[in-house]
Amino acid sequence: MKIDRRQFASAAAAAAFCANRFAHAKDHASVKIDRVELFPVRYPLTGYFKFFTGPHGSSGRAAVLIKITADDGTVGWGESIPIAKWSYETLETATIVLRDYYTPALVGRDPTDIDGALAAMDLEVAPGFSTGMPITRSGVDLALYDLTGKLRNQSLAQMLGRAPGGPITLSWTVNVQQLANVDRVMEEGRRRGFRNFNIKVAPDPKFDLQLARRVRENAPEGFLWADANGGYDPATALDAAPKLADAGVDVLEAPLKPNQMSGYRALTKQAALPILMDEGVISPTDLREFYKAGMLNGVAMKPSRCGGLRSCSQQIELCLQHGLMWLGSGLTDPDISLAATLALYGAYGLSKPAALNGPQFLTDSVLAVPLRIEKDQAHVPTGPGLGIEVDEPKVLDLMKRSGLQPA
Ligand SMILES: [Mg+2]
Repeated sequence: MKIDRRQFASAAAAAAFCANRFAHAKDHASVKIDRVELFPVRYPLTGYFKFFTGPHGSSGRAAVLIKITADDGTVGWGESIPIAKWSYETLETATIVLRDYYTPALVGRDPTDIDGALAAMDLEVAPGFSTGMPITRSGVDLALYDLTGKLRNQSLAQMLGRAPGGPITLSWTVNVQQLANVDRVMEEGRRRGFRNFNIKVAPDPKFDLQLARRVRENAPEGFLWADANGGYDPATALDAAPKLADAGVDVLEAPLKPNQMSGYRALTKQAALPILMDEGVISPTDLREFYKAGMLNGVAMKPSRCGGLRSCSQQIELCLQHGLMWLGSGLTDPDISLAATLALYGAYGLSKPAALNGPQFLTDSVLAVPLRIEKDQAHVPTGPGLGIEVDEPKVLDLMKRSGLQPA
């Protein structure tokens, strides 16, 4: 076979391209985690939300920002976002575990081996019933996805082999202590362009029914999602679920504590409302087992509760496989965690309004360019890694204003 000069040039260019790609891949394979830096902060809050008060009179949304630097200088950012009043992880315990247990296990590792890093962290802090310190380790998972994406020049969606999707419709949280405040809180949401509302219910079903009716009256077309945060006992939940359905609620999340397994089975069997779990669904194994036990119709996803993007993406896959409902939720995520969550939900084509209320309650950002949120539409970041640029002076300033020190 003869080849002409042009064919030869083109074959040579292709060979050079492949060699170059190979060299790049080889470079990445040899990159190691050089250091992990930690910045504890409390993001300032606006409005009332029942979870955010800390010890010694502190307030704000706690987070530990995690900067992982590879030995080629590439940086990945993540953040752990504990809420002591939501689960057992606190700003202080997250900081100590990240500094004294996870960091020594991470330094020197290949940052693109995310499964390997998660397994290494398991050896440092053993699992309990499920994955240990999931919210704390979620920050590491986020930083490793960010770093890997930057090394490979791939977005999160590309790393997952999916299209970016989005935008994501956001839902407004109605968390009130008095019914007289419902209209005002909803009006504030509407003023900002929100059309869908999620309510916090339990422990008082009488109050909850009035709240649900009022919100439904004010938003007849919206998706109305009630989250009890495990606050009912089984008898109360079984009594309340059909009444909440009559009041116009579309789904009931976390009616019981997650270890009330027979109660969950009874509620799912009752079928008054789709029963979603949140608290207690941490690893993909938990979800598979709870599904097999007939405890749920779906899950309110949140990467931070699951130990990060790896576990959460596997759980969304499980839901898709078994026809379970999955809704997009979060832990009042600040910007880095919110960016990761939006990118994940976009990649899996979330269509229902997401209870991502960071933009509703948090007033500060550490990003060089803020996330694009127009009315209730949150655009999915599509750049390499988590698709964001963290402004380190803003991180240091927020830490200083929080009265905290680097760990
Ligand atoms: Mg919830």
